[in-house]
Amino acid sequence: MKKLALHWQILIGMVGGIVFGFILIQTAWGSEEVLVKTIKESTRIVHENVDGQLVAVEQVQPEQEVYMTKARHFVSRWIEPFGKIFVNLLKLIAVPLILASLIKGISDLKDIAKFRNMGLRTIVIYIATTIIAITIGLLMVNAFEPGSGISQETIDNLSATYSGNENIQGKLNTAAQQKDAGPLQALVDMVPSNAVEAMSDNSLMLQVIFFAIFLGISMLLIGEKAAKPLKKFFDSLNDVVLKMVDLIMLTAPYAVFALLATVVVTSDDPEVLLALLYYALTVVGGLILMIVVYCLIFSLYVKKSPFWFLSQIAPAQLLAFSTSSSAATLPVTMERVEEHMGVEKDVASFVLPVGATINMDGTSLYQAVAAVFVCQALGIDVSLSAQLTIVLTALLASIGSAAVPGAGMVMLVIVLESIDFPSDLLPVALALIFAVDRPLDMLRTTVNVTGDATVASVVAKSLGKFGNPDVQDWDDHLDEVTS
Ligand code: ASP
Repeated sequence: MKKLALHWQILIGMVGGIVFGFILIQTAWGSEEVLVKTIKESTRIVHENVDGQLVAVEQVQPEQEVYMTKARHFVSRWIEPFGKIFVNLLKLIAVPLILASLIKGISDLKDIAKFRNMGLRTIVIYIATTIIAITIGLLMVNAFEPGSGISQETIDNLSATYSGNENIQGKLNTAAQQKDAGPLQALVDMVPSNAVEAMSDNSLMLQVIFFAIFLGISMLLIGEKAAKPLKKFFDSLNDVVLKMVDLIMLTAPYAVFALLATVVVTSDDPEVLLALLYYALTVVGGLILMIVVYCLIFSLYVKKSPFWFLSQIAPAQLLAFSTSSSAATLPVTMERVEEHMGVEKDVASFVLPVGATINMDGTSLYQAVAAVFVCQALGIDVSLSAQLTIVLTALLASIGSAAVPGAGMVMLVIVLESIDFPSDLLPVALALIFAVDRPLDMLRTTVNVTGDATVASVVAKSLGKFGNPDVQDWDDHLDEVTS
């Protein structure tokens, strides 16, 4: 019997997870609560007399009880861990994969000028697609004005529910730290002072890329003979890590079940989601348009069917949707683009990791819509020059955003600040869009990953490096090792 294609298996897992989550919250467990933990906070109360002199210090230990619905509790203990294990596995191989494939890719080049050429094209095309995305976002939000219909009551409700939320406070703090950095900080951050430290932290992907390029170029410079042992090592490591991707993907249909069941059970009240429906639809409409733009670019430039492109890249898109992280999806994007689409290794191994870090078209489109939406809702005028500022800061923010869930919201704060949004209203602004952030994050991450794959194909085509796919199955050589 013919095996069901991987993307269908993953899709079935996703639908299963969503249905399971919905059924669970409809049962009694969806409303019954359990005590999860009691937090003991030790607080010192200082008693002073009217002259301000210390009279006594009292140590009290108020207890705070944390409750959760039974459904949420069950999922967090028995389902969510499987999703986490899967995401951890993907993250585990990201650094070895970038190192091995980039070093192999560069050391295979015959001349360094080609690499410079590829680097320049990649950056220029990434910037161009991001500007298209932001422009689409701005056109959509100005045409549909989703913020105008939001009532004062909804604004009050949302800000009462969310503006004190520790998640929102955390995002505001992170944004403040990033804003204080100087203009060249991004360049400084790219150069590691310790290679091992860079490799030990997935958020330092650009540093790993820098190190790999540096090493690869130096290998070219010492000549083929001297570089041979190291090259063999990285060639072999590259094959092994790609095999690991195959093996991890075998578990993907089950893992996405766990990831999506968790999203459904932990998501907010559907009523809140409905209040923001018009805004969410504006973002979704923009994201769909962006996918159409990619398909057009692909068919016009690469001259292959866009449906073929979408079906080859589908497993990576589905994972991006389920994990909300382009960094976690990177190993799968690389495998699909290289083995299943035929983009040559030296292009895929440079363009895709760089893209996962600096090219976030979905995120920047979302930032443009969200920034104008909150201004519309709060009655703040956004002039044409402010909209142009949004284009520029959203572009820079997409370069600076980490490829992890929710990062886009942090950068939104910086975009809002660039248009002189009143800082005391920032918590309200984030509160307004927080409830629908997770589903929108899933969708914008899918667009981010599709954008990276499109640009990798275009760069490969322009350099004559779009070859024929060479699909490796997870069970190649299995007989040899099991017989
Ligand atoms: N989650 C997105 C990504 O990893 C970033 C964001 O938009 O929050 O691509």
